[in-house]
Formats: sequence, C-alpha cells, structure tokens
Amino acid sequence: MTLRLFNTLTGQLDELVPADGKALRMYACGPTVYDFGHIGNFRTFLEVDVLRRTLKLLGIPVRHVMNITDVDDRIIRNAAAAGISIGDYTAPYVQAFFEDLESLRIERPEQIARATEHIPRMVELVEKLAVAGAAYQAEDGSWYFRLAAFPEYGKLSKKDLSGMEDGARVDVDEYEKDSARDFALWKAAKPGETSWETAIGRGRPGWHIECSAMAMEYLGESFDLHAGGEDLMFPHHENEIAQSESVTHKPLARHWMHVRFLLVDGRKMSKSEGNFYTLRDLLLKGYKASAIRLALISVPYRHQLNFTFDGLIEATNAIERLRIFHQRLTQGSFAAGENPALQEAARKAQAEYMAALENDLNTAEARAPIFDLIRAANTAIDRGELLAGDRDAILTVLASFDAVFDVIEDRDAEPTRRAVEWAEQAGRMAEVAPELLARQGLTDEAIDALVAERTTAKKQRNFARADQLRNELAEKGITIEDSKDGARWKRK
Ligand code: AMP
Ligand code: ZN
Repeated sequence: MTLRLFNTLTGQLDELVPADGKALRMYACGPTVYDFGHIGNFRTFLEVDVLRRTLKLLGIPVRHVMNITDVDDRIIRNAAAAGISIGDYTAPYVQAFFEDLESLRIERPEQIARATEHIPRMVELVEKLAVAGAAYQAEDGSWYFRLAAFPEYGKLSKKDLSGMEDGARVDVDEYEKDSARDFALWKAAKPGETSWETAIGRGRPGWHIECSAMAMEYLGESFDLHAGGEDLMFPHHENEIAQSESVTHKPLARHWMHVRFLLVDGRKMSKSEGNFYTLRDLLLKGYKASAIRLALISVPYRHQLNFTFDGLIEATNAIERLRIFHQRLTQGSFAAGENPALQEAARKAQAEYMAALENDLNTAEARAPIFDLIRAANTAIDRGELLAGDRDAILTVLASFDAVFDVIEDRDAEPTRRAVEWAEQAGRMAEVAPELLARQGLTDEAIDALVAERTTAKKQRNFARADQLRNELAEKGITIEDSKDGARWKRK
C-alpha cells in the first residue's frame, strides 16, 4: 500500500516513498510568530498532520522538520514598537502556537527549528552561493541571489519568466507575483534593528534562506517531500530551490505538496473584512476543538476550503454521532459470534477508507464509508443482530479512522478551559460565550458524580431528587440521555 500524492513539481500524482527505504524525510514551512495563528494557517498544518498520520498508518516512519520564523520584517517592526527584544516579543506567540497545535491534536514534528538558532548555517550557505557565483553583495552590504545564475528558476510554479529584468532587486520577503527579481539572502543591519555580526557582515537573514539552511541541516541536501500553503509556491519555495540547488546541484525535495487556501464565507479572510478567526476566537465562541479539526480536514487539501459556521455545526454533529456510536459499542453487551453481513460491511468500509486516503489524501471520500458503516451497525444493534465479533471488527475500523482523524475520544474540555484561562489573562472575557462560562464551572468529574447521584436517586425511587439534579445540569448546558446501557451525558 502506498500513498499517491499530487506533486507540484511534476504536475501529477506520484507515489510517495522514502528514498532511503527507511523514513520519509519531510520539511514543512512553519509559522511566522508575530501574532496568534489563524484558522487558515491551521488548515495547512492540519493537512500536513493528515499526511504524516496517513504515512504512519501505512507503516512508513516519518522524519518531519518544521521551522519557526522568529525573525522577519514584521517581528522586528512590532518588537521595536513595543520597545522589547524580538525574543521577548515572539515568546508568547511561540508558546501559543504549540498550545494551539495541541488543542487541534496536530502531532509535533520530530524536529522544530527556530531561525534565530541557525544563523551560522544561513551565513555558510550565502558564502557557498557567493563562491558558486550565485550571490553578490550590494552597496549597502546586503546579499542578493542572482536569478540569472539559476536557469531553472520557475520550474516549481511553472511561471514564464522570460520578461525578467536582469539585475533588478527586491529586498522584501514577499513580493508581487509575476515579478521575479534578485532577492535578498542577507539584509544589512539598519540602525536600531536586530542584527548578527557575521563573516558576511552585520545583518539578518532573509526569510527564504532560513528554510533552505534548516531543511538541509536536518534532512540532507536532497529529501523526500517539502510542504506548505499554496501561497508559498512562489516566490518562497521557488527561491528555496534556487538557493539550495545552485550549491548542491541536487533536487532539494523530490515531492512538493501545496495546500489550497481557506476562505471564510467564500471570501479571503481578513481583519478589515471582519471575517478573520484565530483558533482561540472559535474556542471562545463555544466551538469544540475536535469540531474545528474535523471541519478543517474534511475537505481534501487540494480543494479550496470554504469555512462557514454551518460547516462547524455539521462537524460537531458528526463527532457526536461517532462518539455515541463508539460508546454504544464499547459499553453494550453483545452475544458471541459474527454476523457475516456486518463482517463484510466492516471489511468494505476499511478498504474504501484506505483507498481514499491513498488516493491523494481524499479525506472527504475517506469519511463517507465510516459513516455508512455506523448507520448499518446502529440498525443491526437496534435489531439485536450485532454480535461480539462484529463489535471487534468495527472497533478496528474506527481505530484506523481515528489514527488520522483523531476526534472520537472526547478531549475537548482541556482546549476550551485553556482558551478561557487565556482570555482571562488577556482581558478578553467579553468574547467568551455565556453558555461556555456557565459550562466551565463544571468539570467532567463533577458531572459524572452528579449523574451517578441521579442514577442512585432513581434506583431509590426518589424521583423528585433525580429531576432536580437533571434540571440543575440542564441549566449548566448538560443534557442526560437515559438508555438501556445506563445514563450518558453531553455538553450542549
Ligand atoms: P505564516 O505564519 O504566514 O508564515 O503561514 C504559515 C502557513 O499557513 C503557511 O504554510 C501558509 O501558506 C499557510 N496559510 C496562510 N494563510 C492561509 C490560508 N488562508 N489558508 C491556508 N493556509 C494558509
Ligand atoms: Zn519555508
């Protein structure tokens, strides 16, 4: 079983296998830590998580490196405005980023590389480029990549660069599409700016050189896969290729994966449009982290994702169905034996699920057979036709579903609690949904205890007390459902 993944470089679906026959070596561009991550950023990180989890499910070990861009134009500007060092400025955003990854259950890459901790590697690479004739120093001391030295420039984004102006330069990290220019590798220090004293002068790295230097440091000169959002294809990834391959003369990465952008209600997300959401914004509105995860990964990575609140509610309901069904299987008692129809349904669901993931990570098609299986199994349980062997077979299918989707076990209380705690410290309590505040007052353990007390009251035929407990919980947004397997509760 192998994964066939679209490769931007070749323009086709290619098999993704480790070149060394051992572990898949991959690099994914990480966050620029000048603010909290927005849901568009997390859409990309979640899709990379889907990739790494699918590889592991296929039995392929992963060596995944992600950078943290902790020095760039915006960080320097914002830190200077706040009168603090860039390290002090970025620290809370770095911490927030890791908390947000955890909330969304995005697995940590094997290696995290911070730009400011790898300056000497970047300097070395600029020196090698200068030796190769691909870098030159401008009058102000900054270093630029000479585009004319790399005829293959544009091979990733397939841009026609015939009108390119030789020697025209750009020193901002991101620049206009279609305007390929010699780009900054190293920016000479301007008065008052954060800078490093190095063999190529006092200054700081450009954004693109960071990724080339750190990727090659941890993965070697040529590795299996490089990933990022679609906006990075040009110029960022094109520049990474030019900088690296001009020195090594080997393909930097054989496979390039680009995640399409997230839109909100069909429009580009932007603060001025009022449709800009961080993960924390959504948690404070009362949406569960698991529902955000499911909503952001249910549209395959090569399709634009149109984020809507209706979509989040759909994901919330889907998770509810999954969790109730899972509880029904694990807590119910079933007679020994196997029902051939259910055995076949489980086998078919598993095969279709894997085939969809192996086909360019088609998460939408992977979800469908799982929910079909749940429907069939629920009907069988209602009719008393599901047997213990079927339960085990279906639980195995759910386990491989959750190896990638990771939403069945309810771990939603912690991210929400953390978000409310953060809002308290950040003076943003006004943004917390009122139901959430009421709900936060009760821990899972406290609710379990109250539900157990109600069950005891019912057994003792003390119905007044049982009703009183039910009403108290309802006021706090907790509903109890009685079934033949006992009482279950859920947060509204
Ligand atoms: P940044 O922190 O801006 O460097 O971005 C981190 C990652 O998020 C990059 O891989 C970007 O391509 C990606 N990204 C930024 N905006 C969006 C969006 N609206 N949808 C999907 N990915 C995005
Ligand atoms: Zn990068």
